[in-house]
Amino acid sequence: MTRVLVVEDDAQLVRALVINMQARQYGVDAAPDGTTALRLAATRQPDVVILDLGLPDMDGVDVIRALRGWTRVPILVLSARRASDEKIAALDAGADDYITKPFSMDELLARLRAAVRRTDNVPVVNGTVLVTTDDFSVDLLAKKATRAGRDVRLTPTEWQLLEILVSSPGRLVTQKQLLQEVWGASQSTKTNYLRVYMAQLRRKLESDPSHPRYLITEPGMGYRFEN
Ligand code: CA
Repeated sequence: MTRVLVVEDDAQLVRALVINMQARQYGVDAAPDGTTALRLAATRQPDVVILDLGLPDMDGVDVIRALRGWTRVPILVLSARRASDEKIAALDAGADDYITKPFSMDELLARLRAAVRRTDNVPVVNGTVLVTTDDFSVDLLAKKATRAGRDVRLTPTEWQLLEILVSSPGRLVTQKQLLQEVWGASQSTKTNYLRVYMAQLRRKLESDPSHPRYLITEPGMGYRFEN
């Protein structure tokens, strides 16, 4: 059974979440504040955490930082509309994904399934870690991308970006995370670099680069590999 820890102070929303998740065979614990959340995360060892950022006793981003001190459990953040700085801070602190309130239960459950899937083992075929789409495939071990049976020539920078994105399918990676990983911390404001390199990757991999299907931009936030 997949165990979910719901951290949310809105009792009505908690009730709706618990009912819907239990109906789908999830085991659910609920915490109304950050202190209880950190205690339950340690004692109940959830497989996924759903975390509201607006908690009565502490900032949700601090809950993420505290969790990331000792666990890689997927964290799905619930966040108020328009609070995009808050979402970015949450993702940079180590959250895996966010969903904006108000959300539909179907959307939340889909994100929850995606979060659980990402923690399942990456498929390893003959010692090769392969990510495949309808249009191209990426061999993370051989560091090779192939499209329509042909090798795609990628620069080291393009490869690094692609590797980070395809390693976490469905997950939003913030501009800051990408810039820090690829160019180092001092470059973390140069988002124009990212636009240039992402455009190149799309030209090389997407069949319609101006309407990307796999390398998706989340405006103002970052990028997501959809498979
Ligand atoms: Ca709240």
